[in-house]
Amino acid sequence: MSIWRTCFTSPPKPSCQCSSFMPAAASDHLSLLPILLRASMGNAAKSKSPRKRLKGSSGTSSEEPPNSSLNCGMGGDELRVPPARVRVLKQGNVSAKGPVIYWMFRDQRSKDNWALIHAVEQANRVDAPVAVAFNLFDQFLGAKARHLGFMLRGLRGLQEALEALRIPFFLLQGEAVDNIPNFLNGLNASMLVTDFTPLRDIRKRKDEICGKLSDSIAVHEVDAHNIVPVWTASEKLEYSARTIRTKIHKLLPEYLVEYPEWESPRKEWTMEAPSKIDWDNLIADVIRKGSEVPELQWCEAGEVAAKEVLMGSKDGFLTTRLRHYSTDRNNPLKPKALSGLSPYLHFGQISTQRCALEARNFRKTHPQSVDAFLEEMIVRRELADNFCFYQPQYDSLQGAWEWARKTLLDHAADKREHIYTMEELEKAKTADPLWNASQLEMVHHGKMHGFMRMYWAKKILEWTNGPEEALSIAIHLNDKYQIDGRDPNGYVGCLWSICGVHDQGWQERPVFGKIRYMNYAGCKRKFDVDGYIYYVKRLVEDTKKRKGGSLTNFCVKDPKKMRS
Ligand SMILES: Cc1cc2nc3c(=O)[nH]c(=O)nc-3n(C[C@H](O)[C@H](O)[C@H](O)COP(=O)(O)OP(=O)(O)OC[C@H]3O[C@@H](n4cnc5c(N)ncnc54)[C@H](O)[C@@H]3O)c2cc1C
Repeated sequence: MSIWRTCFTSPPKPSCQCSSFMPAAASDHLSLLPILLRASMGNAAKSKSPRKRLKGSSGTSSEEPPNSSLNCGMGGDELRVPPARVRVLKQGNVSAKGPVIYWMFRDQRSKDNWALIHAVEQANRVDAPVAVAFNLFDQFLGAKARHLGFMLRGLRGLQEALEALRIPFFLLQGEAVDNIPNFLNGLNASMLVTDFTPLRDIRKRKDEICGKLSDSIAVHEVDAHNIVPVWTASEKLEYSARTIRTKIHKLLPEYLVEYPEWESPRKEWTMEAPSKIDWDNLIADVIRKGSEVPELQWCEAGEVAAKEVLMGSKDGFLTTRLRHYSTDRNNPLKPKALSGLSPYLHFGQISTQRCALEARNFRKTHPQSVDAFLEEMIVRRELADNFCFYQPQYDSLQGAWEWARKTLLDHAADKREHIYTMEELEKAKTADPLWNASQLEMVHHGKMHGFMRMYWAKKILEWTNGPEEALSIAIHLNDKYQIDGRDPNGYVGCLWSICGVHDQGWQERPVFGKIRYMNYAGCKRKFDVDGYIYYVKRLVEDTKKRKGGSLTNFCVKDPKKMRS
């Protein structure tokens, strides 16, 4: 404990304005992690976590079931899914024998998926068949061809993987609030299992779905996305990485464990088979309708591709690129120093728990890189879910802390050197070539470098008519163009940059007030700004030429050489 307390007595110095998203102090003190990681080995799925009464998304009071409910019919077998991972959103009839349906939303994978494991386990418990349903919304948070194409290509592979496991896959199209209850009521289902997302729209829909399902159908929500379930990691809105880190680290030995062995569904699906899905047509349709933001060609979708990015022998992050992470991850000219996992994590095509388990095996050879990676992927990512789960206004100024709102509003009318419209920003028509480059990297390449995301969002605060406008523009552009957009990490990233969420107050200055400031000169001290501008120029030219860019081809080793 004392290690942690001493870690954070001295916050990062305000003079270091252009620093990493992660305060320097945080990265220096990950030394407990290896101990926790070792302790977690071989602790597979033996959670004895206390069952707690939990508050649902929009006031639904969800109580984890009494032992008898989850264990019913198990003959004393140990549960494969830690009970604390599961929230009962609606009690059903425990003796119902109808099929169990997993409405998959956020965790779009067949492997390492606690929600799928839970659905199969619950089906086997009552000797019922199990199926997966995916609801394709007509419109969801403005997703375009880039997002929907990636998602559907991943789902096509997923359908095959599920069929190999003898689990039928149903694709429903339209509004989930109608489709899911109709589907389950029509099947006389006994249970709906769903994965967890903290996003408002889906939580609201889940509440409505619970109200429309017949009384006998239970609804279980499983946190299959976070290593430590969001409601277990903390019961409240956390102030910063510092406050959640110790909580998560304490629980890692219990939750960062190998998945249980796959148990096949016992009862065959003999009801109506899923209709044949015309994937080619479906993909062509979303590409046509969302053509404003075209698909990316450098980023292959699906579970197999995700595993390749993590572990591939040619270009895998852990296998070939890991050593650069600790030293180069804040250098926008070295995008390959980053894992490149965010598209896959966002769409749930790979599990964070799998990534962490694999990363742990590389700790001996690359301790600093592994610790830094786990800090980002576990602590920072779970902190973002914590924020969106406990702060319903996660995408507005109202979601900021009082001190930040006050300072931003105090400076809302300060004179700005430039004011740009949304259109000028979207088209990268500002006077700052560095900012323009980052905007173009996002628009054309679909994944802006993590370091540039901070600079990019902060400049939007500097160049618009106040914090509310800045935030809504940043979120709109982030969601529209980033392949990993529409994610808790995106909302929190924008609020961190513009509203100081999870950060601290800094020296007061015009426009920003006490919000951390970043500027061009600071970036210049950190990396080769001209090299990055040149790199993006080439990236855009190439993307336009080939209708897709390749991250591999554009990993600039020596930008000066490229320019000459
Ligand atoms: C303004 C702004 C907007 C952002 N928008 C998004 C977004 O829409 N989607 C998104 O996934 N991330 C977002 N981030 C967080 C971060 O920049 C990206 O997760 C990261 O750049 C993704 O690339 P990577 O997977 O190669 O990163 P790596 O450094 O390899 O990280 C591995 C994983 O750790 C997690 N992670 C890394 N950095 C952070 C962070 N700061 N906060 C939370 N989790 C993190 C992500 O899940 C990431 O995939 C945003 C940050 C800012 C400042």
